[in-house]
Amino acid sequence: MEKHEADEKTHIVIIPFPVQGHINPMLQFSKRLASKGLRVTLLTTTSNKESLQSETNGVIVESISNNLDVASIEALVDRFKTVASQSLPEIIAKYGASGYPVSCLVYDSVMPWALDIAKQLGLTGASFFTQACAVGAIYCNIQRGLLSLPLEGTTVSIAGLPTLSISDLPSFVYDRESYPSLVDRVLDRFSNVDQADWIFFNTFDHLEEEVVNWMASQWPIKTIGPTIPSMYLDKRLTDDKDYGLSLFKPDAAACMNWLDNKQIGSVVYVSFGSLANLGEEQMDELACGLMRSNNYFLWVVRASEGSKLPSNLKAETSEKGLVVNWCPQLEVLSHQAVGCFMTHCGWNSTLEALSLGVPMVAMPQWTDQTTNAKFVVDVWQAGVRVKVNEKGIVGREEIEVCIKEVMEGERGKELKRNAVKWKVLAKEAVDEGGSSDKNIEDFVSKILCT
Ligand code: UDP
Repeated sequence: MEKHEADEKTHIVIIPFPVQGHINPMLQFSKRLASKGLRVTLLTTTSNKESLQSETNGVIVESISNNLDVASIEALVDRFKTVASQSLPEIIAKYGASGYPVSCLVYDSVMPWALDIAKQLGLTGASFFTQACAVGAIYCNIQRGLLSLPLEGTTVSIAGLPTLSISDLPSFVYDRESYPSLVDRVLDRFSNVDQADWIFFNTFDHLEEEVVNWMASQWPIKTIGPTIPSMYLDKRLTDDKDYGLSLFKPDAAACMNWLDNKQIGSVVYVSFGSLANLGEEQMDELACGLMRSNNYFLWVVRASEGSKLPSNLKAETSEKGLVVNWCPQLEVLSHQAVGCFMTHCGWNSTLEALSLGVPMVAMPQWTDQTTNAKFVVDVWQAGVRVKVNEKGIVGREEIEVCIKEVMEGERGKELKRNAVKWKVLAKEAVDEGGSSDKNIEDFVSKILCT
């Protein structure tokens, strides 16, 4: 892609919500904008900044707040708002005074207060949705009162989406008792979105065609995903191996050396992302299910979850499995030894698996993961979903059966073929002239003219 006449003074500030699954796509988007000739500064907390170099692939990383020591996601939403909404205008003024005036603020859609600041300062404001367009549409329908809570009946019909069971909706919607205030915070993103100059979704047109069209009939949304470095999409080697920044330390060499010694498609990769917590009983069933499936497995168990691992697992897995605290997920998913991804269906993980052609066993835990799992199975047909038993647990036999369904036989081959189909379409979307690439180009050229 030819660079635009580099106007180094056209300066964009990007501010993600400071958790792993939001930083990764917004940092990648930042790199893409920087590669097209914009000056891009990404703002995050001090400790996150320490995990990144001060400049990564042309993106300048700066700290907007000290570390936020909070106990819950709700508290993080509120605390980050308090702290960052105070420092953001000062930081933007500082850039202006030092000769790098800011033209545009790209903010995480979960922080609508940032758009108010952008408007007060006369900046272009762009909202970035890190979740699926389908999930955005569900929340949008609730916020507009088209779907009222508490929900009635067993299914819902929403424009642009297949009929959804109540349990296919995001858990904040159907399980409000467990998350009493999160749904309000999540819906808040629509309170001022009408005033946003741009609305980006980390998805691609083919993947969510109908709902993207519906959203586009409401607002001028732009699909810009998948925000995955191109080297992973077409196996080109570049220096940019980092997806984003790891808030957890990956055991990269251990994972990759272990995978290098395994046959093609012989490994189940298991991860539940950066936030989900499994109960002890569930960990036990999962460990037994993995052993029973008799495949190799690479299982990410964050250090904070380690104490829940069954005590006999170490001895039992020495032959079959490798348990690590964190891994370079894109490298792992790109490795030919990986035959299946047992995933919580976080949006990034889902998009990464589809974009890299890896079929899934969907084991959603909370938030939008339930909706993503529905799409993985019924719409994209690139995986199977585990059934939860009457105790609210996924049993070992169920795990075994689901893994075998993806790893073996005709059904497994069909799921793999479908996953590879999405991989091809994902690459097309971000390649030069593809739908996502054109949308990014359009944004860049308009921003350069403002
Ligand atoms: N990830 C990783 N290594 C791991 C597990 C996850 O690099 O061992 C990355 C993964 O590639 C994804 C992000 O962490 O980009 C997790 O985001 P996702 O939306 O899947 O889930 P969340 O953590 O937000 O629940």
